[in-house]
Amino acid sequence: MSDENGDQAGLRRFHPDYRWDGVELKVYKEDGRDLFRDVTRQVLFSRADLAGELRYFEVAVGGFTTLERHEHVHAVLILRGRGRALVGDRIVDFETNDLITIPPLTWHQFRAAGDQPMGFLCMVDAVRDKPQLPSPEDVAALRSSAPVDEFLG
Ligand code: MN
Repeated sequence: MSDENGDQAGLRRFHPDYRWDGVELKVYKEDGRDLFRDVTRQVLFSRADLAGELRYFEVAVGGFTTLERHEHVHAVLILRGRGRALVGDRIVDFETNDLITIPPLTWHQFRAAGDQPMGFLCMVDAVRDKPQLPSPEDVAALRSSAPVDEFLG
C-alpha cells in the first residue's frame, strides 16, 4: 500500500523549514474575502487503509485560518510558535506542544501570535463533511461576546 505521495514505506526526513521529504506544500490562495491569511498545508499521512489523515498547517506572522465549523472533529498539536484560537465561545492562548481539541459543529479559528510562524499538526477523519462558513447572523452572534469580537479583529 502506498500513500498519496507514492512512497512505499519508511522515512521522510524533516527539514528545519518545516518541510518533509516528498511532501507537497499547498499554499492557500486568498481571494479578497479575507477568510484566511498566509496559510499553507502539507498532508503528512493519507492512505486508503487508514481512517484518518494527518496534516501540517502553517500560519505566517499575522496570519489566521478560516473561521469555520463542521461535523468532523480536529485533534491539533501545536508544533511551532504560539497563538490564540477561538473554540466555540472561548479564546484559548496556546504555546508550542499544547494540544487543542475542536468538537463537532464548533466554530474555530487559529491565529499566529508573536514574531515567528505558527505551525500545527491536525488529525481528521479521512472521510469528512465540508466546512461551513458563518453567515452574517453567525458572525453577529459570535461578536456579541467582547473577547470574541476582539479576537476576530
Ligand atoms: Mn476546521
